[in-house]
Amino acid sequence: MLGPELITKLPPMTTANPTNAADPRPALRAFPREDLIQFIEDAGFPAFRGKQVFHWLHRKGVRDIAAMKNLPADLRQWLIENTRLGGVDGIERALVSTDGSIKFLLRLRDGLKVEAVLMPGSGNNADKMTLCVSSQVGCAVDCKFCVTGMNGFYRNMTPDEIVDQVLITRAHLEQLDDGRFLRNIVYMGMGEPMLNPENVIASVRILTDQEGVNISNRRLTVSTSGIIPGLEKLAAADLGVGLAISLNSPTNAERQDIMPITRKYPLEDLLDTVARFPLRTRERVTFEYVLLGNVNDSAAHARQVAKLVKRVPCKVNVIPFNPDPALPYERPEDEAIANFQQILLDANLTASIRWSKALDVSGACGQLAGQSRQRTE
Ligand code: SAH
Ligand code: SF4
Repeated sequence: MLGPELITKLPPMTTANPTNAADPRPALRAFPREDLIQFIEDAGFPAFRGKQVFHWLHRKGVRDIAAMKNLPADLRQWLIENTRLGGVDGIERALVSTDGSIKFLLRLRDGLKVEAVLMPGSGNNADKMTLCVSSQVGCAVDCKFCVTGMNGFYRNMTPDEIVDQVLITRAHLEQLDDGRFLRNIVYMGMGEPMLNPENVIASVRILTDQEGVNISNRRLTVSTSGIIPGLEKLAAADLGVGLAISLNSPTNAERQDIMPITRKYPLEDLLDTVARFPLRTRERVTFEYVLLGNVNDSAAHARQVAKLVKRVPCKVNVIPFNPDPALPYERPEDEAIANFQQILLDANLTASIRWSKALDVSGACGQLAGQSRQRTE
C-alpha cells in the first residue's frame, strides 16, 4: 500500500539503463504479423520466413533469436544484428494473493516498472484466469480516486511491452502447472489505453492473431476513462473487442470533480461516441462505476446513472472503492452498495458488483503502481 508520503507527484523520469534503452533497433515483438512479414521481405527474405518468426515470437514466446531453430543461419544472423526481440526485461516480483490472484511487477528495458495481475474467475471458473495489463507507465488522466493517477505519467508503453505482459505471465502460469490457464485480457492496469491508441491497437492485433497468442477478441476488453479521439481510433480499427467505460458519475458537474478529464470530454459527447462504437452482435458495453462512500453512491445517483446509460446496450459494473491511505475517499456502506445495484436492476439494467481482487498484494485494478513507484537513481 502507498504511504501518505507518496502523495506528492514523482520527480521527472531519468533513464536507469541508458545503453539498453537507447538501442535504436526495431523490436520484433512490436510488429503485427503482416507488418513483420513485410519487414522481413524488405530485408530480402521470403514471406513465409516472416510467418515463422511470428510463430517463434508469439506462439512459442522465445526470449532469444538464436532459439528460432528452423530459420536459416543468414536470417538469424541478420535478425540478431538488425533487430531486438523487445518486450519486458523480466519479472521483478510475483506476489500471490490469498484469493489466488498473482500480481507481477515487471521491469521494462529503461528500468521503469509496470504491474500486471492474473485474477481467477469465481466459482466454477476458478481455473480461468483474466490478465489485467498496463498500457502506459503511470497515467496523466489524474482521476482523484486512483493511485496510478496520483503517481503521475512517465511514458507510453510500446506494443512489444504490452504484448509481453501476456507472454511472460502466461509462461509463469504454465510453469505452475496447476490446471489454471489464461482466458481473458483486460486493459485495466496502469495507464489510459486511449491516450496510447496506436500502440494499444497494434498490441490487440498481435494478441488476437490466430497464428500467435490467439486470444479471441471476445475475451479481450479495453477500458477507458472516456478519451473520445482514442475511442474513435479504436472504433475505426474495428477489432471486435469489448469496451468498458469508467463512468463513475452521472453528471458533468460532479464527474469533473473526480475525473477532471470530463471538462475536455463531456458525458453527452462520450455517450454519443460509445453509442456508435462497433460492437459484435449481442455484445454490450460495460460501464464501470467506482462507488465512493457518500460521494457518488446515493439512490439519486443510481437513478441518474440508469437514465444516462439506457440509450446504449450495456451492463453496469459497480466497483466498491478500494481505499488507500493516499486517497481522500471512503469505502461505501454495504447498504449503499446493495441499494445502488438494486435501483439499476429495477430499471431493467444488468448490474453486478465487482469486488477487487488481490487486495492483500495491493493488486486491485486502479491500485497498481503502489509499489512500482519509479526509481530514478
Ligand atoms: N485508465 C483506464 C483503465 C485503467 S483503470 C480507465 O480508467 O478505465 C481501471 C479501473 O480501475 C477503472 O474503472 C477505475 O475506475 C478503477 N479504479 C481506479 N481506482 C480505483 C480504486 N481506488 N478502487 C476501485 N476501483 C478503482
Ligand atoms: Fe488513469 Fe484510469 Fe486511474 Fe483514471 S482511473 S487515473 S484514467 S488509470
